[in-house]
Amino acid sequence: MLHKTLQRQLIKAFGSQQRIPKDLYSLFQTISDTYFHADEDRDLIERSLEISSRELENLNRKLQSEGELIEKEVEKRTQELSAERNKLSIILSGIVDAVIAVDLERKIILFNKAAENVTGYKVAQVIDKPIDDVIKLFDNATQISSETFCPMPQNNFEGIIYKKQGLKMLGLKQQQTYVDLLTGQIQEGHVFNLGCILTLHNISKEMQLEEMKLDFVSMAAHELRTPLTAINGYLSVFIEESRGTFTEDQKMFLDRITIATHQLVALVENLLNVSRIERGAFTVKLEKIDWLQYVKRVVEQFEERAKQKHLTLTLNTPSTLLPPVMADPLRISEVVSNLLSNAVTYTPGSGSVTVWFEKTANEVITHIQDTGEGIPPEALPHLFTKFFRVSGKLEQGSKGTGLGLYISKEIVTMHNGRIWAESTFKKGSTFSFALPAVKSD
Ligand code: ADP
Repeated sequence: MLHKTLQRQLIKAFGSQQRIPKDLYSLFQTISDTYFHADEDRDLIERSLEISSRELENLNRKLQSEGELIEKEVEKRTQELSAERNKLSIILSGIVDAVIAVDLERKIILFNKAAENVTGYKVAQVIDKPIDDVIKLFDNATQISSETFCPMPQNNFEGIIYKKQGLKMLGLKQQQTYVDLLTGQIQEGHVFNLGCILTLHNISKEMQLEEMKLDFVSMAAHELRTPLTAINGYLSVFIEESRGTFTEDQKMFLDRITIATHQLVALVENLLNVSRIERGAFTVKLEKIDWLQYVKRVVEQFEERAKQKHLTLTLNTPSTLLPPVMADPLRISEVVSNLLSNAVTYTPGSGSVTVWFEKTANEVITHIQDTGEGIPPEALPHLFTKFFRVSGKLEQGSKGTGLGLYISKEIVTMHNGRIWAESTFKKGSTFSFALPAVKSD
């Protein structure tokens, strides 16, 4: 069979099919076969092209819709992220304490509103700046380096790594504030390039109030001291000169006046000492002291009071020689006197007060032990804090200021020593303090 197109052309050329020469016809037949095959191939190609383009279209459609989905997801995530960031910055701006985060090179990466207020800097001025260029912290007069208050995370630790109260901070143009500092670190710090997070609590107002309180206390104590010294002096002269002329009642009244005056003098001295300590104006001048002889003399001063209360006051001489200690004789006598005075005051009649010593490698420990009322366990941790008095019948019955132990602790600390108390409630207490011993050469 000839291909239709060829047959039509041959008939046109020769007039009819019969006139077409046989050879030519068979030649055209061969050609015709090729045509047929070409048609078939074309059909095949056309069909497969049709399929491919349909598949491509489908694929394209699918890709488009997936692209749209991804776009939407990205948009959603971006919104979530920026909401999260806004939330964090709102939370941080709402925090009254300054929050500063630094990276592993101690360059600032986060600085909240309170940090702006306390330092005087604006956030844009400090981001990416080393923390040392922005704030300077001082503990009294000593500057604290950022390596100290912001040590780099070395292990997988998470939590507070540095804590210090009452630091002086210098910010923009040496603007001065007082802060309590707390430095924290998170476990994944290394991964997120987060060094540490500083929280600074501004205590300038409290410090100012404290300063005013100290000024007032110190001024009042000074003003009270002069008339009190006069009262005390004239009273003792008066008693001395008129001894023998008083009735029993008059003697009792004068004794009470004398005791009250001594208590007032002690209170004023204590208040002055507290204000000196708080201002850093309380200093010690250390010298070598023969400790046993020294304590013996102080104990002697309490013999009369102990006798009046029917207390046994004993000093146990150590079996081996005590080394001398380095101490300020005036200041350290306040400690021994205060502990002895408390032991005598808080021990009811017919009890006993014993002073004894212990020698360790580097220290001489002095123990003042009584068989008094003792101290309840919950009060023990507060004993050495300012104005602390154990509440209860002891407190009501005795007139104290709650300053003696606080001052004693400060004095012992200035001597590089330690002071502590052990007590069994209703059985008695032992107050002890250790002073560095002078090394024999
Ligand atoms: P003050 O004796 O002036 O009140 P202190 O600071 O010396 O102040 O003592 C604080 C408180 O500790 C006292 O009020 C008392 O309650 C308690 N205290 C101190 N020493 C003793 C002691 N030896 N026995 C029992 N309580 C004591």
